[in-house]
Amino acid sequence: MATNKNSSKMSLTYKILAKNLLKGELKAGNEIAVRVNQTLTQDSTGTMAYLQLNAMNVDKVATEVSVAYVDHNMLQSSFENADDHEFIKTSAAKHNIIFSKPGNGICHRLHLERFGKPGKILIGSDSHTPTGGGLGMLAIGAGGLDVAIGMARGLYYLKVPKVYNIELRGKLQPWVSAKDVILYVLKELTVKGGVGYVMEYTGEGIKSLSVEDRATITNMGAELGATTSIFPSDEYTKTFLEKQSRGEDFVELLPDEDAFYDDKLIVNLDELVPLAAFPHSPDNVHEIPEEKLKVDQIAIGSCTNSSYSDFMKLAAILDGKRVHPDVSLVLSPGSSNIMKMISENNALAKFIAAGARLLEAACGPCIGMGQAPKTNGISLRTFNRNFKGRCGTMSAGVYLVSTETAAASALTGYLTDPRELGEEIIIKEPEKFETSDNYFIFPNADENEAKKEREAVEIIMGPNIQPFPIGEELKDTFTKKVILKTKDNITTDDICPSNAALLPFRSNIPKLSEHCFETIIPDFKERAEKNNGGIVVGGENYGQGSSREHAALLPLYLGIKAVIAKSFARIHKANLINSGIIPLEFENVEDYNKIDEYDELQLSDIKNSLKNGTFIIKNITKNIEFPAKFNGSERELKILKFGGYLKFATSDEFLS
Ligand code: SF4
Repeated sequence: MATNKNSSKMSLTYKILAKNLLKGELKAGNEIAVRVNQTLTQDSTGTMAYLQLNAMNVDKVATEVSVAYVDHNMLQSSFENADDHEFIKTSAAKHNIIFSKPGNGICHRLHLERFGKPGKILIGSDSHTPTGGGLGMLAIGAGGLDVAIGMARGLYYLKVPKVYNIELRGKLQPWVSAKDVILYVLKELTVKGGVGYVMEYTGEGIKSLSVEDRATITNMGAELGATTSIFPSDEYTKTFLEKQSRGEDFVELLPDEDAFYDDKLIVNLDELVPLAAFPHSPDNVHEIPEEKLKVDQIAIGSCTNSSYSDFMKLAAILDGKRVHPDVSLVLSPGSSNIMKMISENNALAKFIAAGARLLEAACGPCIGMGQAPKTNGISLRTFNRNFKGRCGTMSAGVYLVSTETAAASALTGYLTDPRELGEEIIIKEPEKFETSDNYFIFPNADENEAKKEREAVEIIMGPNIQPFPIGEELKDTFTKKVILKTKDNITTDDICPSNAALLPFRSNIPKLSEHCFETIIPDFKERAEKNNGGIVVGGENYGQGSSREHAALLPLYLGIKAVIAKSFARIHKANLINSGIIPLEFENVEDYNKIDEYDELQLSDIKNSLKNGTFIIKNITKNIEFPAKFNGSERELKILKFGGYLKFATSDEFLS
């Protein structure tokens, strides 16, 4: 529903964009450049981002705050992870970037606690960067190269999004939580429902949500395909920041009354019930079934539900009880400071007494780093994604639930509605959060000293750090075979598998390319080698999921020149362009059915076609033609001409 189209009353999203606007006009669909105030990287995408930043030869970052977190690749079962960590640490020191040591916690929860500020623009090389929206900041997930350029040049290009108003009415009922709110929104809008939008939350109902709750909602808003999600910065934000000893970072930020929104969804919190996303998609959401679903494993943590209050709720539910004998309950707190608080207030002792397993403050099982379920196992997770195989076991079924539902199920051994636990448990917020900075390495505050220190740093690159592929300057014609045709909703996990065995190779594209698309076909690399590269044809929402630019870099390395799909996920499309691969959309989606694998397609007059946005593609094998469109900006056109964003961003044309 559109409201008041001619209104000049602004949403919070537009206020923040307007304040940080550097180039372009703030009109939905236009490409603009905005000031990047903050950046974050994590280690699995960060190695590429720092290779790219290092290649740009800048002295120090142009942002107010940039943080390099290490939270994904933590097993260190061989030298590769440790080499990656050292490379990131020395690259951070070289450029005035704060380094968060392994063990400090999950990037998004840490950023919320220590650095996020209302009204600022944060870009992060991780798709769950929108977690920061819980604090009233515009926090956007982007590809590593976009983040590298954000660090080097202090700006970020994006298409002005539309704004989707989610109005929360009423109040959450006992045992229903923020996780159920976002599961409900996913049920209503699906994994494609947020594409092209920022989801902006308003309404009386936000008053029953703490900043930690809000961050759970904005975090999992990534699963809607949205650019980001945001809550206002109000008295709850103020309290949170004060408790984090950062009261001075607070500013009140609200949308104008009667602000213009492109669409609207009303959620009646009073009517919400506990929900679960069934395998294998976050929008496959149902109420907790009455028939008993036996559970083998329960994992509590991830950037979605690893806050202090999550763990205190769990402690209250487990207190004096025992985890069901058939269930393995694994816990990964969001940060070292949460870990310290729960160890000091006795919650940890309650977990151990109940028979839980405590993991490191890190992503852990969420990214398949350990705790893969057994064959055909059923795992309940408080996480945000349940794509097939992401947990490390292809045959496992992962259900996404709230902490309350996970805790109730840990006691019974089956998927359980937490309302069966009886009277609601009220968790008392701490007077102050622990705010130790011992796991951070900060640049020297004295700029003269800091400059000398930066100059002295030697960036250490172990043998696992391999150069990244660079695209070729655009040719005006090419003929290539379709070496893969996929279905709808292909994820970046499908293109670049993410599991404990492969995560150590995120800085090693040649090695990782052996596994490109392996969840779909086992021989993609062989096909690419045999056919001297090729074209991929995709369905709807191609490239959904994480921000990982490896899902573009692996195809680039294997010689993929273009992807023709029914539609693309936002970040992946940007990553394809940044890598120099042409993303085209079918003008008529039924033409998808007229192409088979190994058909030979010819793209000609490419430069003009990109400029006009319309291609006529010749299917040489079938002797037919079909139209396709390129939906990109002038700048993206230049990126493709140069053969990738890095080449363009270091050109005189970009710098002038
Ligand atoms: Fe880490 Fe999982 Fe969050 Fe990604 S989704 S940042 S892997 S916890």
